[in-house]
This record gives sequence, structure tokens and C-alpha cells, in this order.
Amino acid sequence: MESSNKVIIVGAGIGGLASGHFLSEAGRSVEIFERARIPGGRIQLLEKDGARVDVGTQYFHTNYVETYKLLETVGMKDKLIPIHPPVQMIRDGRGYPVKHNTIRYKIVPFWSNLKFGRFVLTTLINFGRLDPYYNDPLPEFEDIELADYVLRKCDKETLEFLVRPIICAFNLSDPEGESLAHFLRICKQFLTASDMVLPGGMFSFPQALAARLPVTYNADVKQIIVESNQVRGVQVGIGKEVRRIETKDVICATPLKELPHLLPSLNDVEKKGVNAFKYSQFPLANFFMKRKISGNQWAYVLSRSEDFKTAYTSDAAVKCGEMVPSGKSVLQTWFAGEAGYQLIDEPDEKIIALAKKEMNRVMPSFESEIESAEIVRHHTGMPRYQVGAYRMLRDFLESIRRIKGLHLVGDYYGHSTLETVVRSARRATDKLLEAASPFS
Ligand SMILES: Cc1cc2nc3c(=O)[nH]c(=O)nc-3n(C[C@H](O)[C@H](O)[C@H](O)COP(=O)(O)OP(=O)(O)OC[C@H]3O[C@@H](n4cnc5c(N)ncnc54)[C@H](O)[C@@H]3O)c2cc1C
Repeated sequence: MESSNKVIIVGAGIGGLASGHFLSEAGRSVEIFERARIPGGRIQLLEKDGARVDVGTQYFHTNYVETYKLLETVGMKDKLIPIHPPVQMIRDGRGYPVKHNTIRYKIVPFWSNLKFGRFVLTTLINFGRLDPYYNDPLPEFEDIELADYVLRKCDKETLEFLVRPIICAFNLSDPEGESLAHFLRICKQFLTASDMVLPGGMFSFPQALAARLPVTYNADVKQIIVESNQVRGVQVGIGKEVRRIETKDVICATPLKELPHLLPSLNDVEKKGVNAFKYSQFPLANFFMKRKISGNQWAYVLSRSEDFKTAYTSDAAVKCGEMVPSGKSVLQTWFAGEAGYQLIDEPDEKIIALAKKEMNRVMPSFESEIESAEIVRHHTGMPRYQVGAYRMLRDFLESIRRIKGLHLVGDYYGHSTLETVVRSARRATDKLLEAASPFS
């Protein structure tokens, strides 16, 4: 086994990179292993004919704190651009404009609006307590199923035309099975913040961080070696070579679902916690168009109750003009929720054909205006908090503390956002440094 006094970090998504940055800043040596050939994880970029299109993470929210500090470190905070692109919800072929942070939606009748408003406002009493970026326990909301609650407290209109589109857009999941607590965290985020983008693409952020850190790419960590509840090292596959590196501290900044492979000795509570936790999965169809075809419209929100599998279609050229200098539309069709699971492993042609068929219903000239199409698949979308998952996740996190030297970083600590991850990296690295301090 190679010996090392470095902290080993598994994964060069924003969690691993933020951890590497915080530790390096504090004078610790780190080594980051990333399975892919590039950094960023779920922050992904598609480049084509001069266009730079975000195909993973879409924006920063104005209430991020730790993420903004990190952006400042790499000289990018001043580059952020606020965006307020118009959105239309479609019902019976008619468009209803919506404002981003509003609770007044003309797509549903007056009474449904009132019921939804009352629902959000009554929970506003708890809003001060709700942290979208950290899962403080909310026992009174965690075990209530969102779809069932909305049907009881509001009506079907509210479920189909407000709640479903919101959770589809912000979490890429359907309301069935999802916990009410999760929806309230999402509402708090989108009602209290607006959006910012980086004109070079969201990917430029992890790219800039990674350039300052020792990252080895194409390096698949096979196992975190643990003996007597203490981390002893890692086993990493780099090409045909397998390296065993000794270390006392490992930051695991991978999605939670990787843990059973990395830590074969998980106990039953831990396995239950990991297995209870699902990620949304979906393909994203990107259409590069011959011209700007959506006017100044950024997104069209469609409804499952009108037999659409598309949750919404957004135009990257309207979201941020600097990213698509040609000005031609780049329409992105998001299949969220159940439709996403059904389509994720289907061939590209089938996904493209379905997206075309559905978009033709909204924009009759759609198909004839396509120049080319590209599919991006998200096998690890966003964490879902189904009823019961919060508690099982907390049990898991409590139990896994038995392994000394193992530090977990990820978006499963709150609603799936960069801020959740960066904050978890801050907590994990502070703890690691504190434990290593001669004064602790
Ligand atoms: C489509 C989409 C849109 C989103 N939009 C937004 C948004 O607008 N705003 C926002 O704030 N958040 C958004 N999110 C959420 C945000 O992208 C994630 O919460 C965040 O990027 C997760 O970062 P991470 O570092 O925890 O995990 P990841 O980004 O998943 O990174 C984990 C890394 O670990 C690597 N890895 C895994 N296993 C191993 C192994 N065994 N060995 C070596 N490397 C390994 C992976 O290759 C990956 O690079 C979005 C997510 C998705 C999917």
C-alpha cells in the first residue's frame, strides 16, 4: 500500500472540488480522484457550433451564500448575470404567462388559486424554520404524501397545473410518493430567490476550481478501505493499474447510491437508508434550431393531464443570449418524473421522435425548423425525498458516523442544489480539520 498523509477525495463534482479547495486553503494536502475525464459531475456543458448550453445544473439562486464565496475565490462572482426570462404554462393550447416568484397563477380558476395561496401561506408560518439547503427535521410534514395532501386541501386543478409542474421543474419528479416537506423546501427556494447564470456556462465554475487542485481523471475509486471502524485507505483503478493508497481521511463526494460499492460493510440501517433514497432519472433532448423560433419566450410548461410526457421545454438562447451567439433557438425538452424513468434507456431516435411529436402540438413549425438534435442522459438526476426517506436518511447519517475518518459530502443533505453541496463540504472539512487539530 502506498502511504500518504493526504486527504483523499472521491469525486470532482462541485462537492469534491469545494472540499479540496477548503482543505487546501487550510494548508492540508489533498488528492482528488474522478471517474470521468472531466470535472463537474452533474454540472454539464454541451458545446456545438459556438453555442455553450447548460445541460445539467441550470442556475445559481440569489440566496446562495457559501457558493458565492467560492465563486468570488475563482473571480467569477462579478460575472454572474441575473435572468428573468418569461415562462408560459400551456393549457388547452393556450399560453398563461407566469412570474417566477409568485403564488398567483391564471392557469387555474380563481378558487384553486385561493386554495393554493392559502396552502402556501399557512405553511409560510413555518417558512422561517424551513431551510432548503439543510434537512432540519420537520416531522409534521415529512410523512405526508404531497399528491394526497394537495387533493385533500386544494383540488385536482391545483395538483395538475400548479404543484406537478413546480415539482417537475424544480426536482424533476412527480408529486406521487413525494413528501410534503420536500415540496415546501422547494417552494421556499423559488419564492425567496431569483436566478443567476454564468455567461460562459455553469461548467466554467467547476472547471476553474479544478484547475487549481490536484485532480486525477479516469480514476475510479473501487473501495474505501475500512478496518475496525477506521478509514485505512482507498483502492483506485486508473486505466489498467490498481493503486492502494493509505490515508486516515477520505471525503466521499459521490452521489449516495455509490456508497454500497465503495463501502461493502454497510450495516442494515445504512443499507436501508441508501436504498430508500432514489434519484430522478431522465433524458434531456436538445434541439438546435435553424432560427430563433420562440420569440422571447424562455419556457413552455406542459401538463401530464393533457397527455404530455414533456414537463417543459426551455430555450437556452433566451435564458442567456451570450451563451448562444448565433441567436438561434436551442430548445431543451425535459422529461421529468415517471416519464423520465420510462425513457432514460430508450434509443435516441425514440426520445427525439416523442419530443418532436409533443412539441409540434405546441409549436406547429417545430419539426421543420430543427437543424440537429442531441440527447443527454441523467442517470443521477436530483435526490427525491419520498415519504419516510428523510428519517431513513437521518438514521443512515447517524449510523455511518461509526466510521472514523469518513466524511460525506453531497446534495442529499438538503434540496438538490449547489449551495446544499458546498455547505456540506464546508461542514465536512471543518470537522475534519477540527479532529486533526492538536488542540481538539
Ligand atoms: C439536470 C439537473 C439540473 C440541476 N439544476 C440545478 C440548478 O439549476 N441549480 C442548482 O443549484 N443545482 C441544480 N442541480 C443540482 C446540482 O447539479 C447537484 O446538486 C450538484 O451538482 C451535485 O454535486 P455533487 O458534487 O454532490 O455530485 P456530482 O455532481 O454527481 O459529482 C459526483 C462526482 O463523483 C464522481 N464519482 C462517482 N463515483 C466515483 C468513484 N467511485 N470514483 C471516482 N469518482 C466518482 C462522478 O463521476 C461525479 O463527477 C441540478 C441537477 C441536475 C441533474
